[in-house]
Amino acid sequence: MLPHAELGTSWRAARPPMAGSHLDSAACSRQSLRVLDAVAAHARHEAEIGGYVAEAAASPVLRQGRAALGALVGLAVADVAFVESATVALPLLLAALPLPASPVVAVVPGEWGPNLAALGDRGLRVVHLPVDGWGRVDVEALDGALSAARPDLVHLTLVHSHRGVLQPGAAVAAACARAGVPLVVDMAQAVGHTDCDIGADAVYGTSRKWLAGPRGVGFLGVRPALARRLRPVAPAFAEAMLPGLSVVERMGSQEAHVAGRVGLSLALGEHLAAGPDRVLARLAGLGRHARAVLEGAGGWSVADPADEPVAIVTLRPPEGVDVAANRARLLAEGIVTTAALPARAPGELRAPVLRVSPHLDATEDEFEALARALAAG
Ligand SMILES: *Cc1c(COP(=O)(O)O)cnc(C)c1O
Repeated sequence: MLPHAELGTSWRAARPPMAGSHLDSAACSRQSLRVLDAVAAHARHEAEIGGYVAEAAASPVLRQGRAALGALVGLAVADVAFVESATVALPLLLAALPLPASPVVAVVPGEWGPNLAALGDRGLRVVHLPVDGWGRVDVEALDGALSAARPDLVHLTLVHSHRGVLQPGAAVAAACARAGVPLVVDMAQAVGHTDCDIGADAVYGTSRKWLAGPRGVGFLGVRPALARRLRPVAPAFAEAMLPGLSVVERMGSQEAHVAGRVGLSLALGEHLAAGPDRVLARLAGLGRHARAVLEGAGGWSVADPADEPVAIVTLRPPEGVDVAANRARLLAEGIVTTAALPARAPGELRAPVLRVSPHLDATEDEFEALARALAAG
């Protein structure tokens, strides 16, 4: 039995009916009617009273949104800023981070491809952290590795996008603190999905995945001890323009899709009201259950640890079967999934996988139907 069935029922009832089966929340979740209405209402308010006046009127809601994000990642409201996406947050942070000549960053071999590109663009040379057979950081070997060749930075993606793997974030943060190395964590797949209060020095993520907020909204959070060392672009100008804001708040984008931020703030309220512990338990249960049902269906095999407590499930195709073609075939049958290509994790993913990522309202029947559809391929 899946835990917290009532959460599934209420999550489904809060949304427009889905045409088919949505098993793609690691790409983009379905927003609730309240979130959709709040976004539309804010856009309308902008037309009625003026964009900047409407933004000022919404400032308590926006502040609550940042406070809720802070609560989830273990930071205060002044340590969190809204940006457009996770993709925007990382280069923004890296540009402000003081680094020595020839800087080195340590990551797992399965690090997300676009993050590797951003790290490379900032001139960071990548070295690998010790990992186990699933690509998870080997916590036992970590202290030794960090003291043998101390990197200038550790970057970790807490939940991977190409495989249902959760990194031991709190243990990595503790080891980085012992070694005196700042830890930056990509929480795009983690926030709203797993415990994110792990003690990282800087975090960033996105609205549209497990938090089920609007697209085009993301966040950056920096612990004060690291924020004090940042050198943001044009600080004097920003200080003059934005008096009374923290360094991190000033790094947030000022001209923005404010309606989307209002929507994310509402979605965060819904997440907190549902009870993050219960949400996490149900998502973990859904992942386990889906792996059990889908293992072997039509010759596809689960590529993740069977009991990993995340709702991202990846499937390897049988010999000679094309993942993208099957993803398209499933979509034509109304089942939304993702074909994850090796570019997502060039150091680890050797061939495409089919990613299945249910949110709270997924049912056992939907996994059975997917298993039958895979077998019919
Ligand atoms: C989706 C994703 C991102 C990018 O998020 P955006 O908001 O689209 O920029 C970054 N990292 C990981 C691991 C992701 O899955």
